[in-house]
Amino acid sequence: MNSNKLQGKTAFVTGGSRGIGTSIVRRLVQEGAAVAFTYANSVEKANELVKEIQAAGGRALALQAKGEDIASVKSAVGETINEFGHLNILVNNAGILDVKPYDQFTMEDFDRTVTVNIKAVFAAIQAAGPQMRHGDRIINIGSVNADVTGFPGMSLYSMSKAAVAAMTRGLARDLAPQGVTVNNIQPGPVDTDMNPAEGEMAAILKNVIALGRYGTVNDIASLVAFLSSPEAGYITGASLDINGGFMI
Ligand code: NDP
Repeated sequence: MNSNKLQGKTAFVTGGSRGIGTSIVRRLVQEGAAVAFTYANSVEKANELVKEIQAAGGRALALQAKGEDIASVKSAVGETINEFGHLNILVNNAGILDVKPYDQFTMEDFDRTVTVNIKAVFAAIQAAGPQMRHGDRIINIGSVNADVTGFPGMSLYSMSKAAVAAMTRGLARDLAPQGVTVNNIQPGPVDTDMNPAEGEMAAILKNVIALGRYGTVNDIASLVAFLSSPEAGYITGASLDINGGFMI
């Protein structure tokens, strides 16, 4: 796995303390990058991940940033640039899933989903973008739910991930003149705390996945690694599905 394709590069991953984000952090380190990542509350998990990476000879930095607190997101990007000198790869992975019947959402719920899943993504890109250079990468983690929903209760989450897809296209245009690509990965169900691969809901979901299984966090990290690499230089503004054939 140690390809050194990203040797000398630096990365910033939001929500690296658990789930898909942890796998992305590990994979980017394995490819040679120095990686800063954020956590919201899991300080112990974040510190363990830093220790694990350092013990293996890698470079990592954990920073607390909550999507609800936009200033903390911007300052985590700033701290990363101060520490590493520059930022080549920004991965906006942190997100929340709030599932309820539409008439039970409060306006505070609405604002929270918009702030964490959309505004914080934009804020991180605004903070990092101006210092990014030719060949650098911005990768957002959207969701299959931007395009298909399938189940009730998903209105706010689906809305937020569709916004990420549209924002990605707009920003791909904005950052193209400086040679930075901006892409959006849209996973189907992936086995994490957010969406465990066991239980009643999982059984229903597996039925509509052509491959009959949940994705793994490593499946998603592999696509992040590819999009981060020089081979992916002609992909920008794309929303790439990685879902095992979900509801096809
Ligand atoms: P998890 O819930 O397993 O992990 C979430 C990560 O984001 C953790 O590091 C967590 O930090 C951090 N986080 C949680 N809430 C906030 C917040 N309010 N502000 C900042 N950071 C926060 O999620 P997944 O790994 O499953 O999901 C990662 C991304 O992938 C999300 O954007 C999600 O929408 C998307 N996705 C997931 C799918 C799935 O089936 N799992 C499918 C499609 C998309 P802490 O540990 O401190 O709480």
